[in-house]
Amino acid sequence: MKATKYIWKDGEWLDWDKAQLHVLTHSLHYGGAAFEGIRLYETQRGPALFRVQDHYRRLLFSAEQLYMEVPYSVGELVAVTQELVAKNQLTSGYVRPIIVYGSGQMGVTPSAELPVSIYIAAWDWPPLLGSKPIRLSVSSFKRLPSTSIIPEAKHTGNYLSNQLASQEARRRGYDEALVLDQDDYIAEATAENIFFVKDGKLYTPQLGNALPGITRDTIVQLASDNQYGIQVVNWKMNDLKDIDEVFLTGTGAEVIAVSEIDDLQITFDFGPITRTMRDMYLELVSGEIPDNYNWLTYIH
Ligand code: PMP
Repeated sequence: MKATKYIWKDGEWLDWDKAQLHVLTHSLHYGGAAFEGIRLYETQRGPALFRVQDHYRRLLFSAEQLYMEVPYSVGELVAVTQELVAKNQLTSGYVRPIIVYGSGQMGVTPSAELPVSIYIAAWDWPPLLGSKPIRLSVSSFKRLPSTSIIPEAKHTGNYLSNQLASQEARRRGYDEALVLDQDDYIAEATAENIFFVKDGKLYTPQLGNALPGITRDTIVQLASDNQYGIQVVNWKMNDLKDIDEVFLTGTGAEVIAVSEIDDLQITFDFGPITRTMRDMYLELVSGEIPDNYNWLTYIH
């Protein structure tokens, strides 16, 4: 990871190396932190954040679900992020806000005395899964049931099962895991939503057992605004036999083709719809096509 100069914490600018937490930080012990991942893109008009307001709305929702009191609005967090990017002289990269319950009290229930802190870091981080089609392995770890977590939130504790799945896939020699829910319905990957293409139409698993990804929503909107059929489905692995194309979507990974899923023993094309969706997405985030949705927030 390429360090930058500053990390913002509760209104202060800390040197990158000074943004540290006590070992008895409550969120570290029990997984109760809220976080986000936001991308910054280089455009002709200078660096721009993509759907930053939507990311901060989700962050504040995640924090609220943990009863954290956060004294900042979406607008204030966006302004801080613009300043952070400028101070760190980034032209593209990734922004990671995280809200934690601090130290001073142990036990699963965070007491009212526990401080809540918000940190925002930003650094240069290329697409997580590269740009070539990737290979997925169906995980033996099932997605945590939506009755045990808040599936719309990005809470660090939700990611233990994703981490186990992702480590398993990589140890099996694959690039990423495909995670099924408790009833074997296809849910998502460990940090991406999934789309399928069949006969020119797009399909994606229903929410409830997948994070409502902002990139997923972007693709759904781009597809419907460009007259592609799109349908939300509840599919199992044996529904994938006649699929033509598969791709993943996420802030970190962007839009990435899938060439193979282990269980199916079949391969998919990096086909025309995946290419079109990937190209449209990359053109949109980098300001090469008109930002009709007002999704770009420029730094200056
Ligand atoms: N699912 C999971 C589990 C994720 O962590 C992410 C990344 N935030 C996504 C899907 C994709 O979400 P987004 O497009 O908002 O980054």
